[in-house]
Parts: sequence; C-alpha cells; structure tokens
Amino acid sequence: MASLSLQHINKTYPNGFEAVKDFNLEIEDKEFIIFVGPSGCGKSTTLRMIAGLEEITSGTLKIGDRVVNDVEPKDRDIAMVFQNYALYPHMTVYDNMAFGLKLRKVPKDQIDKMVKEAAKILDLEKLLDRKPKALSGGQRQRVAMGRAIVRDPKVFLMDEPLSNLDAKLRVQMRIEISKLHQRLGATIIYVTHDQTEAMTLGTRIVVMKDGVVQQVDSPQNLYNNPCNLFVAGFIGSPQMNFLDATVKVSGNDVALQVGNHSIKLAPAKAKKLIDGGYNGKTVILGIRPEDVHDSDEWLKKSPETVIESTIRVYELLGAEVFLYFDVEGANVTARVDPRTTARTGDTVKFALDAEKIHVFDKETELVIT
Ligand code: ATP
Repeated sequence: MASLSLQHINKTYPNGFEAVKDFNLEIEDKEFIIFVGPSGCGKSTTLRMIAGLEEITSGTLKIGDRVVNDVEPKDRDIAMVFQNYALYPHMTVYDNMAFGLKLRKVPKDQIDKMVKEAAKILDLEKLLDRKPKALSGGQRQRVAMGRAIVRDPKVFLMDEPLSNLDAKLRVQMRIEISKLHQRLGATIIYVTHDQTEAMTLGTRIVVMKDGVVQQVDSPQNLYNNPCNLFVAGFIGSPQMNFLDATVKVSGNDVALQVGNHSIKLAPAKAKKLIDGGYNGKTVILGIRPEDVHDSDEWLKKSPETVIESTIRVYELLGAEVFLYFDVEGANVTARVDPRTTARTGDTVKFALDAEKIHVFDKETELVIT
C-alpha cells in the first residue's frame, strides 16, 4: 500500500475556471481520507487528478516516492470505484471482476484465485455466475468494489460510491467499506457530500469550499474545533446555531450580548476575546443543538448562559426531540431529551453549555475560540 503527497496542486479547466486552488495534503499509508464539501467545490476534480483522469495544471503529485503527474492512469497502481458502478451488463459477476486481470494477461489460475478471494471478502461467492441485472444495488456495488480489490492496488479512489443506494443500504455498505478498509489495510481516498459518511468512515476529513481546502482533521476534531464558520456550519446535522452577539468585557469576564440576553463565557474563552481586542465588537456565537439544554439541571448549573424564546416547532424523532425557536431573528435548534415537557407555543428557557460555545470573527469568519 502507499502514501500520497499532494503539493501545491492547482487545476484550471480549459475555459479558465479554477476548480482547485493550492491543494496541499500528505496522506499516510493505510489512511482513510475523505474529501467532503458542497457540490462544485472541487472534490471530484482532485480525485480525478490523483487517478490521472484529469491533467494537473500545476503542483506535484506523488504516490509513494514517485512523482506521477505524467504517469498514465493504468500505471499509477490505483483503482477507482465510481458512483455508477459501470459493470459490464453482458458479463457475469466473475467475468466483471476478472476482466481487468485478463486484459493485463494475468495467468488464468491466478485470476481465479484472486477473484475468489475478493468474492469471499465481499460475500459474493454465491453470486459469481449472475449477470449485473440480477443483482441488487448493494450487490452491484460490492461487485464494483471487488473489481477494484482484485487489482490489488496501492490506493483506492472512491467517488460517491454509495450515492445510488437507498438509505438503509447506504448504512450497510458504509459498515462494509469500513470493514474492508481494516481488512485490506489499504489507503483509501473517498469523495462524498454526505457528512455522515465522512464522519463515520474517515480517519481524516478534508473539507473543501470553492476549490480551497478549509480544514484537514480527524472527524472528532472537525466537529469539536471547526476552524471557521463554513466548516462549523457544514459539519453536523442539524447544523450549528449561529447568533450575532456583541462582546462586553468587564474585568476578566466576558459576556456575549444577544438582544437582551447576556451569555457569560468560560474563562479560557473570555481570555481569547479580551486578548484579541474584541470588546464592543460584533462576533458570531456558535452553539450545536445538543449543547442547548432545557432541563432544570442545566438551568441551575449554568444560570449565566440562559436564553428564552417561544417554541415554533416541536419535533419528536423517537430517541430525541428537536425544538425550533428564534432568538433575535436567528433560527435556533435545540436537541433535547424526549422527556421534555416543552411543546409548540411554550415559552422556554434554555441554558447554553459555556464550554461548548464557539465564537467566530464576523469579518474573517475564522474561529476566535
Ligand atoms: P459534486 O459534489 O457536485 O460532484 P465536486 O465537488 O466533485 O462536486 P467537481 O466535479 O470537482 O466538483 O467540479 C468543480 C468545479 O469545476 C465545478 O464548478 C464544475 O462546474 C467545474 N468543472 C468540472 N469539470 C469542468 C470542465 N471540464 N470544464 C470546466 N469546468 C469544470
């Protein structure tokens, strides 16, 4: 398997459009890297440059120690799995998986061994004689994976491989892919715009926007410590709540004023705002729905971070309840215990978890604390 190095990679399409700008990333052997971001942010373009399907305008791409900018796709030792599995309809599962090996003139008995091994890993042994039209979506996806596995590549590239599957199957295949990663010990680069996939599969996630890498981090760090407003809003569902707030410093204390609500910051966070000279300035307060609490316990524990509003929508999702309300014109979502007594139309007090408050600079949109 292999490491990859992307150094100052740029892609300008012939029409002058800059799809990827100064992309830098070192990928270690066996990592599961996710490229995530909104439609058009340059994820697929980057993946296709790694695959050799798209020319690199400038920068250096290495697989292992070898610069591969000008190496043909077939000589890069990578395998790509696409969203439309691209199976040959007239061939059996076996032949679909064997096809690439036959082209490479691999001896027949070796092909047989490799195909059967991959079929075993993917639980396709009983389906080897079937044609693709006699398979379910998930089975077809496994065949597409199998075709990649038999090539025993250094790197797997996957472009939204699950996007054609229904929700239940996606969850199943997600687990399969995760197991596959562990079993193969492979380096995988995986493109998705589904952040659940990103969060559950990736060892590291690359968040992109407008062709520019925003943050590269572990799923947990990305969720807990987003570097800017975009990442904070993109990762997490329902998304982080954002409120405009004015910074009020008094001594070592800092309160964020949102309308007539005053929200006191934890000491470490307060210090960052004081040191940054934010007194009197407008900032953006960010708080995730699960850190907005309506329980008596929290209201007692954190009386200096309380906001009050009237519930616009009460939504029971079984194991949790979402409460939707407005604060100073901004929509806020609280994710609370289903035992809550709050209902639509009620005026409710909420305590924000002071340790979990994020503060962003309104101008630069970068995180302050
Ligand atoms: P999606 O999630 O929708 O697949 P993406 O992040 O994978 O999006 P890309 O396919 O990499 O996005 O495209 C990045 C940008 O480059 C888009 O704005 C797209 O319109 C543009 N683009 C892609 N291919 C070309 C091309 N051949 N010529 C010009 N612009 C292109």
